Amino acid sequence: LQSCARKVDTVARLGGDEFVILLENFDNSNNPVIVAQRISEELLKPSQVLRTKFYLTASIGIVYNNPVYTTANALLRDADIAMYQAKDAGRAKYEIFDSQMGQEVKERIEMERELVQAIQNNNFRLTYQPIVSLQTGELISLEALIRWHHPQRGIIQPDDFIPIAEESGLILEIGNWVLEEACKQIKIWDQSFPQAKQLSMSVNISGKQIASPDFCNFLIRTLQETNLEANRLHLEITENTIVEDVEQTLLTVTEISTLGVELHLDDFGTGYSSIAYLHRFPIKALKIDKSFIDRLLDKNKGQALVGGIIHLANLLDLDVVAEGIEYSDQLALLKELKCGLGQGFYAAKPMYKEDMELLFSNGKNIFERNKG
Ligand code: C2E
Ligand code: CA
Ligand code: CA
Repeated sequence: LQSCARKVDTVARLGGDEFVILLENFDNSNNPVIVAQRISEELLKPSQVLRTKFYLTASIGIVYNNPVYTTANALLRDADIAMYQAKDAGRAKYEIFDSQMGQEVKERIEMERELVQAIQNNNFRLTYQPIVSLQTGELISLEALIRWHHPQRGIIQPDDFIPIAEESGLILEIGNWVLEEACKQIKIWDQSFPQAKQLSMSVNISGKQIASPDFCNFLIRTLQETNLEANRLHLEITENTIVEDVEQTLLTVTEISTLGVELHLDDFGTGYSSIAYLHRFPIKALKIDKSFIDRLLDKNKGQALVGGIIHLANLLDLDVVAEGIEYSDQLALLKELKCGLGQGFYAAKPMYKEDMELLFSNGKNIFERNKG
């Protein structure tokens, strides 16, 4: 690092793997961006320790001093914010601080604080979206989807808080609540609606949960306490969850499937996994991501891709669910392509339990019901 700066600059180690460089009176050939690039290039060269070569990368945050800063701490804080932004953007990047960034980080910290309260105050609700047989319109399964009922801001959608819950680790508590609540609810429905007994319940599981050493025990306990038959519980994980730590995930997922719980691969086709994992992992179903269904009616490639995935799933004896079906012509084509199951606004939107109960009372075939 010292070789990347000048003699007059200060290079310091803050602690751990964090370093700070103070550049004073720089000119164009030594401005912070040039220095950041120089550091990145320097780190690209392998460092050799004994016989092993190490490759390092650094995330760099840059902040320019100005009269607004009256303390060194404030300057360091903003450099830190920019550094985190660089980390978020991927490895080996640099970012220059702007005040907007500070705002984003503050909002994130505020939301984290509110999430903790929401857990304490039980401000989450589940909605349930039907998964139906495309051939018969029969209800086969329900996917539990969380909503946050914020006392001031109203209903907050999962895409707006799940990422923060994951980053902060709060997803572990929230995810446990979802799992327990969904299992309880389906057993309650078993009591009042005979057709509920044929249904399974799908629950989204974050990679953080799969990686948590307590997850399998919690799952076993929940099945025991709620009395739900293991084969009626389906856990949806994404390809990215698998890729994060392949061997550890394989162990956990194998234990889960030994219990009889099914694993489904969510958002299939959008992640970074390899098709080889379909072979190695005890996966029971693929959920084709909505983005593919959106392009289904593009004559050439859209149809070929979805048709190919369905064919692959059928050959491997996996169930296949088309996500995000919104139109009747998508449904017709999916039936033609021999897609077994589907989910989407065309059949039904996610519903709170009261609406779900109305649906139970009103008969079986969802598509017929919609026509009426
Ligand atoms: P996902 O698992 O892919 O869930 C499907 C999403 O697509 C849901 O959004 C659903 O409302 C939406 N959807 C279904 N059919 C249609 C359609 O025909 N058109 C359109 N435009 N959308 C449709 P939602 O409920 O907002 O959930 C978003 C994501 O948040 C989920 O995507 C899932 O990744 C995550 N999520 C939701 N609940 C949980 C949870 O309890 N735990 C975890 N870890 N993640 C959750
Ligand atoms: Ca899902
Ligand atoms: Ca999905």
